[in-house]
Amino acid sequence: MSDPDTSTEALVCSARGCQAPAGWSLRWNNPRLHQPERRKTWLACDAHRSHLGDFLTARGFLREVAPLAESPTLEE
Ligand SMILES: [Zn+2]
Repeated sequence: MSDPDTSTEALVCSARGCQAPAGWSLRWNNPRLHQPERRKTWLACDAHRSHLGDFLTARGFLREVAPLAESPTLEE
């Protein structure tokens, strides 16, 4: 089983169909699916950071947004 979130490929935006290099890490948690301390990570390019952030914010899932430069090690 491989999880696409932990791919070691080049870090690209998680937005559907977008192949742009990611500059942002969006940490989110769905309280109905995940333990409270669990974080899922979406990567976003500059163009999609607000789009993906709005999507997560609207659902109450967004926890943190960090520049990728400050989180070189991707965590689950
Ligand atoms: Zn993008």
